[in-house]
Amino acid sequence: MPTSIHRDEGYIKFSYAHEAAPPPAHPRLHDLMRIRDDLHEWELIGVLPDGIGYGNVSARFAGTDRFAITASGTGLEFPIEAAHFCEVISFDIPQNRVICRGPLPASSESMSHGAVYAARPDAGAVIHIHDRLMYRLLRAEGAPQTPADAAFGTPEMARAVGRLAAALPPVAVIVMAGHEDGLLAFAPNSRAARDALWEIYSRSRRE
Ligand SMILES: [Zn+2]
Repeated sequence: MPTSIHRDEGYIKFSYAHEAAPPPAHPRLHDLMRIRDDLHEWELIGVLPDGIGYGNVSARFAGTDRFAITASGTGLEFPIEAAHFCEVISFDIPQNRVICRGPLPASSESMSHGAVYAARPDAGAVIHIHDRLMYRLLRAEGAPQTPADAAFGTPEMARAVGRLAAALPPVAVIVMAGHEDGLLAFAPNSRAARDALWEIYSRSRRE
């Protein structure tokens, strides 16, 4: 099982153990793929001019804390394919580490998805997107947000997401204040999470 560990001064960076395997056999994977492609068309998931991908979608395997999620480095892919997903088998927030399997490894953003699933048994899907107008609108409206000093990819961000998620309604959108333009939606299913984002997207383009 190949292992990737990156260490930096100050905090434990994301690492993973990845086992090469076929795409996850999630019963709602096709729903999730269609929703991911909608979000890609709205440019809420994609690739920044510098080539860095952003955004990801996931769905829980019912009754477990395992989930299928778009794999690292798939922001450019369109249309998305089953082979662009992996399964997160387990995750350790204090160690900032996941165990995953599939054709490609999980991204560091999978920790925030895992934090929601762990905090909320009713959450069936999580969507993370980037969008400046939606981010500004929600901040102006005082939407729930993670602390500005909780940086992307840190255990602090994952913990902050979990704490917020536990206190919110079953369908909610969180502002990731320490992760520029980042929003995270969760809901019992992927369509409800997509619809919550679509409502904000529409308002952000109107105002
Ligand atoms: Zn992000």
